[in-house]
Amino acid sequence: MTSSSQATDHADQGRAAAEQAEQAVAPTPGGASGKRVLLAKPRGYCAGVDRAVDTVERALETYGPPVYVRKEIVHNQHVVQTLEKRGVIFVEETDEVPEGALVVFSAHGVSPAVHEEANRRNLRTIDATCPLVTKVHKEVNRFAKQDYDILLIGHEGHEEVEGTSGEAPDRVQLVDKASDVDKVEVRDPSKVVWLSQTTLSVDETMERVDQLQERFPDLQAPPSDDICYATSNRQVAVKAMAAECDLVLVVGSQNSSNSKRLVEVALQAGATSAHLIDYADHIDESWLDGVTTVGVTSGASVPDVLVLQVLDYLQERGWGEAEEITTANEKISFALPRELRKDLSDNPDSPQSVR
Ligand code: SF4
Repeated sequence: MTSSSQATDHADQGRAAAEQAEQAVAPTPGGASGKRVLLAKPRGYCAGVDRAVDTVERALETYGPPVYVRKEIVHNQHVVQTLEKRGVIFVEETDEVPEGALVVFSAHGVSPAVHEEANRRNLRTIDATCPLVTKVHKEVNRFAKQDYDILLIGHEGHEEVEGTSGEAPDRVQLVDKASDVDKVEVRDPSKVVWLSQTTLSVDETMERVDQLQERFPDLQAPPSDDICYATSNRQVAVKAMAAECDLVLVVGSQNSSNSKRLVEVALQAGATSAHLIDYADHIDESWLDGVTTVGVTSGASVPDVLVLQVLDYLQERGWGEAEEITTANEKISFALPRELRKDLSDNPDSPQSVR
């Protein structure tokens, strides 16, 4: 698919979302006060996060604590703190893990150098990298082997970008801000491809692609979208309700890329205000002044219990039952990592519902 046809697809997607918004968000009165809550669907856990958290929980049950995890397994404060209480030790790098111990790699993926370091130190590893991140790693490898220059659109310093770039550091250049486009240098302008982080804003990424294409008319697009289904579905869902909302509350952590993008997308799609919160008690009462319609959604690493607490908070302050605004039904799930599946099937006492 060319980048321009992808841009068309995304534009079509945007129009479809706007039409859905008109149909889905009919102006129904929310009781005498007119206060309404619109709840985006899909929201919350994606298949990659579900698998990564499940992996750590199964590892705890199967091997017992402590289980070491390199970096946050997913970018969510509540998930990380809950797992810590159960015996998980989060580390920044594998050199903090005792020789021979078990370490789980997070959903964001790791570079080959991290695998090598873990091998060197005889660590037992379980790789919980989301299969959709692995797909981008494979694309980097494939294009690097074909001697392409790879322009990776993504956020500087994000773990996923570090892992993906690490597949071919000599071939990958990161394009984060618009000003990065002018800094890119390629060896052969006819052999350039753009790839991206999985959790970006769809619209902003296409802007960056257009800028790159002006410099490199032969720029090649990824074989399939790198921004994952969960990221784009959550953006479409928040767009569908944003224009109706005086306030959009996005449940998610500050270091969660896809959650932060939901705040930006909500504002761009017409929400009067939008805030990112980890917990209901992070809501500032003043945000609710003069607000009639509140939209609620959550990032791909957020368990729904945190969203339910936000709905309770709103109900206690006079907002009624939430109206769910559905733009897609997701049915994707991923099998647990191979290393863990093997041990689970070898262990007759372990829970056997391995997907
Ligand atoms: S947000 Fe997308 S890429 Fe990231 S873990 Fe979820 S499904 Fe995988």
